[in-house]
Amino acid sequence: MMERVTLGPVLFTAEAISARVKEVGAEINRFYLARGEPQREVVLVNVLKGGFIFLADLVRCLEIPVVVDFLAISGYGDRGTSAGVRILKDLSEGIRGKEVLVVEDIVDTGLTLSYILRNLEARGPESLRVCTFLDRAVKRIVPVEVHHRCFEVGEEFVVGYGLDYRQKWRNLPHVRVLRGERAQVAG
Ligand code: 5GP
Repeated sequence: MMERVTLGPVLFTAEAISARVKEVGAEINRFYLARGEPQREVVLVNVLKGGFIFLADLVRCLEIPVVVDFLAISGYGDRGTSAGVRILKDLSEGIRGKEVLVVEDIVDTGLTLSYILRNLEARGPESLRVCTFLDRAVKRIVPVEVHHRCFEVGEEFVVGYGLDYRQKWRNLPHVRVLRGERAQVAG
């Protein structure tokens, strides 16, 4: 079947994104610096694939000691619960006793993030916080606490800056609305 989707208007330009990521990076620096000496290492847990560009930009704004690790999980499909979610690629190191910051592309219903948080919490981190590039609070099904966010978005499906439509358009330097046939969520 023909894909009847086209790129719509630009929502966030590359310049606006860059400025905002710097602000959020500074916010994260302040939070962890205030936790006092000796400065503890923060494990940035990036959720693939949508979050990889945000992580790459964010990490260069951080002045605290950090390590990065990656997690890939399956989507929850159309059932509207996190029952079907599973880990496709797990972290390469343990996080017990560590300061952990989850770095997400977008928090929509919250189903994916709530699964991730439950799973990571069970591993006994010292702290577990969340930073997301985009937050679509209007669609939230499961309440999840988001500590740092770059931008709020409305109902429209968006692509670019790591976010895809059927694996396409992750490479756009800006964020655009996708127009046309109901876009499928594909992390
Ligand atoms: P949630 O579990 O919060 O509903 O959504 C999690 C995942 O759905 C996100 O990590 C992302 O991969 C995908 N997603 C949700 N909304 C959008 C969107 O507007 N655009 C794109 N490209 N992916 C989205």
